[in-house]
Amino acid sequence: MTNKTAFQNALSLIAGGVNSPVRAFASVGGEPLFIKSGTGALIKDIEGHEFIDFVQSWGPLLFGHGDRDIQKACKEALKRGVSFGAPTLCESRLAQLILENFPHLDKIRFVSSGTEATMSAIRLARGFTGRAKILKFEGCYHGHSDSLLVSAGSGAATFNTPSSLGILQENATNTLVATYNDIESVEALFAKHKDIACLIIEPIAGNMGLVPGDVEFLQKLQKICRQNETLLIFDEVMSGFRASFLGSFGLNGIEADLVTFGKVIGGGLPAAAFAGRAEIMDCLSPLGGVYQAGTLSGNPLAMAAGIASLSKAKGKKNLYKKLGKLAKRLTSGLSDLAAERGVPFQACFVGSMWGYFFAKDPVKNYQDALKSDLKLFAKFHHNMLKNGVYLAPSQFETGFICDKMNDKIIDRTLEAAKKSFKAL
Ligand SMILES: *Cc1c(COP(=O)(O)O)cnc(C)c1O
Repeated sequence: MTNKTAFQNALSLIAGGVNSPVRAFASVGGEPLFIKSGTGALIKDIEGHEFIDFVQSWGPLLFGHGDRDIQKACKEALKRGVSFGAPTLCESRLAQLILENFPHLDKIRFVSSGTEATMSAIRLARGFTGRAKILKFEGCYHGHSDSLLVSAGSGAATFNTPSSLGILQENATNTLVATYNDIESVEALFAKHKDIACLIIEPIAGNMGLVPGDVEFLQKLQKICRQNETLLIFDEVMSGFRASFLGSFGLNGIEADLVTFGKVIGGGLPAAAFAGRAEIMDCLSPLGGVYQAGTLSGNPLAMAAGIASLSKAKGKKNLYKKLGKLAKRLTSGLSDLAAERGVPFQACFVGSMWGYFFAKDPVKNYQDALKSDLKLFAKFHHNMLKNGVYLAPSQFETGFICDKMNDKIIDRTLEAAKKSFKAL
């Protein structure tokens, strides 16, 4: 079967042929690759082509495809039983592995997706504060629950419009939208609204392309939240155990009231979590009145993969230094190649996360990101595929380095990029 026939078949069975929209290659054209297998840094499609994979399942695979330790942990868990719907020791083990690193997080609860983690954190913040409104940032993605799938139309922060059909205007009305890295836009909203339950942000934004939050900006967010008794939620579903071992917190030490995790903490299996101070977390049912539940939450296989993944990350000296070094070589190499060809290009990295825009000026927020040349992006993406490199099929995504990558992989990627820029 070819990718084309596989996609046609999938289209007749699955809505849009995919189970998550960005997989469909809609913004770059053509049909998606159907992946047969992966080993380390590489993936193979069903036609037998091999690619260097910078998607890494959109972040979870810190140790690449088919990591032996994660496989072994899963096999052992599989033998014990796939799911019980009752407490198991591995949930407490993973909880401890995460919490012991964060002095400001006392308790955690596991869920199965990042969407659930942020949705639950928002409900908890509303329950804890007794307030309705939430504040988010344009271009930040926190999963697809109703109140978070909202962003300002044309930068008009007062006129919130849902980003999807099926979301009620009242959800949008309670979701205030500010501009990333722009403290004045946040101050203006706090001046107008006294009843903001929480402010949620990706402290290292990875869903409008990679746009790191300025440290000073994040510090000011913490301050303004404290002044207004608004809970600060750092969504580290992507950046946690990716940007550094401790995510954004490991880089700047800023303590949020609630933190959400996902992706890496499941080691490639479905696991996510939200954590915070005891006084907040104890508002959750059965101790408190905020209801939240999940049949497969804390699933033994996912916990086993998560424990293996995080233990390995913790035990490996200089892991993030190594990943950052590779990301630096890659992004500066790409920037040099683009400059040689006179292509407008911006690239940056944080730990093992890296990103690039076909844009003339540095990108600080979503409106800046929107100035990217999407036609150039689509062409470059296509050229890179032809040259054996699999990049995220959208300008507004982040790339990931995994531990199985090395200088040789980066050399091969830059070689492919050289040809791809030339053919733009
Ligand atoms: C991926 C992501 C989510 C959503 O996680 P899912 O597991 O896809 O539901 C939420 N927040 C951020 C920052 C993410 O990167």
